[in-house]
Amino acid sequence: MKYIDIDKENELPGKRIKEKDTFSFRCYPEIGCFNRCCRNLNLFLYPYDVLRLKNSLGISSDEFLERHADAVLCPGNFFPEVLLRMSENQQKTCPFLTDSGCSVYADRPDTCRTFPVEQGVQYDATQKKDTPIYFFRPPDFCLGQHEDRQWDMAGWAKDQDAQRYHRMTIRWAQLKRLFQNDPWGAEGAEGSRARMAFMATYNLDRFREFVIHSSFLDRYKVKSAVLKKIKAHDAELLIFGIDWVKFFLWGIKTKKIRPR
Ligand code: SF4
Ligand code: SF4
Repeated sequence: MKYIDIDKENELPGKRIKEKDTFSFRCYPEIGCFNRCCRNLNLFLYPYDVLRLKNSLGISSDEFLERHADAVLCPGNFFPEVLLRMSENQQKTCPFLTDSGCSVYADRPDTCRTFPVEQGVQYDATQKKDTPIYFFRPPDFCLGQHEDRQWDMAGWAKDQDAQRYHRMTIRWAQLKRLFQNDPWGAEGAEGSRARMAFMATYNLDRFREFVIHSSFLDRYKVKSAVLKKIKAHDAELLIFGIDWVKFFLWGIKTKKIRPR
């Protein structure tokens, strides 16, 4: 996910795909480059990706992060990026790659789903609105770009079952944009508030424990309907977690959480 300034569209990496634009692409197991794109990657995982993958693997978010992810704080950033850890073999393959393809296909991350289109987010400060933008950027080795099948972005997202991922990625981008300025102060990015923000977005099983079994509910009033939803659905818990981070770090009000 890239942040693109509204006046810098000409600096987009790849060909911008607007609503009515089309691109050629087809990927299938018999293609000569099959699986070549699933190795040696800097594959960024967004919170919804982690949620889907840990559930697909039947492990907790803690275990997933421990086994499969590296959190990296890039210079000038105030919130870590989470990267999928590649296997320690010569080709540094994705840990979920098998001879027959992706073993977590139904729950593959947003980036894999949308590939070879990349997703960016453009913020219009006048309208205070984040808009997803897309650009077609297959690597040279990707033979799928020479196939005849034509797609527009809506058709591609539908075909890849990516719409829900894209909606969650926009929510995540809205929060990440707030982290362009340092919210930590003297405490730094390793402090307790930073650990809380990471837990509320990436470590959802821990966050659920925190909401339900700590003094959280003594200190904050959460509507019973919301509580019911977040107990039952990880995606609702993630949306709640994002709202909670905005509230406790920046005081952005939400109807879901009120101090008692
Ligand atoms: S490189 Fe392109 S065509 Fe080849 S497997 Fe990956 S996405 Fe498909
Ligand atoms: S998650 Fe699946 S699609 Fe994505 S890189 Fe790994 S094997 Fe490839």
